[in-house]
Amino acid sequence: MTNIVILTGAGISAESGISTFRAEDGLWANHRVEDVATPEGFGRDPQLVVNFYNERRAQAADAGPNLAHTALAQLEAAHKGDLLLVTQNVDDLHERGGSSHVLHMHGALNSAMCASCQHRWPAPMKMAVGDPCPSCATPMARPDIVWFGEMPYQMDRIEQALEQADIFVAIGTSGNVYPAAGFVQMAAHYGAHTIELNLEPSAVVSQFAETRFGNATQTVPMWVNEVLED
Ligand code: NAD
Repeated sequence: MTNIVILTGAGISAESGISTFRAEDGLWANHRVEDVATPEGFGRDPQLVVNFYNERRAQAADAGPNLAHTALAQLEAAHKGDLLLVTQNVDDLHERGGSSHVLHMHGALNSAMCASCQHRWPAPMKMAVGDPCPSCATPMARPDIVWFGEMPYQMDRIEQALEQADIFVAIGTSGNVYPAAGFVQMAAHYGAHTIELNLEPSAVVSQFAETRFGNATQTVPMWVNEVLED
């Protein structure tokens, strides 16, 4: 039985109509990262940040999972060994595509978090600045998103899975943001076969044993079929 770790990035949701971060027409073209994706930006202008994630939540709700998301759900259902799906994406298209165990290492749009006590609850479609925490009542709700300078979630669990992995596949991620960009090196170190499925080579492409380039809706179902036939 093989153990598989899958890392996904913005590229897997691109064909669902959710813009990637670095594309020229991407979401980030009109916003500075420091303004909308750092704790300092939230401290300076919480309204701008809350609006930005409200827009992203609405965009994700309008989008639907594509063939790449559903292929990974089929793999989860049929695969006999361990499988960990780690996503950097904050949308819920993996879940809506049928995956039931998704680790959102950078947080999730559909979750809100209290900046005071860290309690989490389902985010409303439109969050407002100063929404009270349902647990401690402090008016410090924030989007449950891991911003630059904050620690991604469940790193221990991810590192354990990478140590045990026989196959590590990275899908639609540019390899610019650590620690996720370092997963390939760790997986290879522990002996996994490493595969990049991407539209264009990532910043860490040279570290993968195998690479396939094309749209995720083509490369991912093809790869999943191969794994299931093995
Ligand atoms: P990215 O936008 O950096 O990269 C997208 C990747 O998807 C690229 O490699 C691209 O070639 C590929 N791609 C595009 N269309 C594709 C398709 N149809 N099929 C397959 N691949 C396709 O996104 P990322 O790597 O997920 O970014 C990592 C993290 O960076 C994000 O989760 C986010 O937390 C963080 N982030 C970065 C910035 C920034 O630096 N501007 C801003 C905010 C957040």
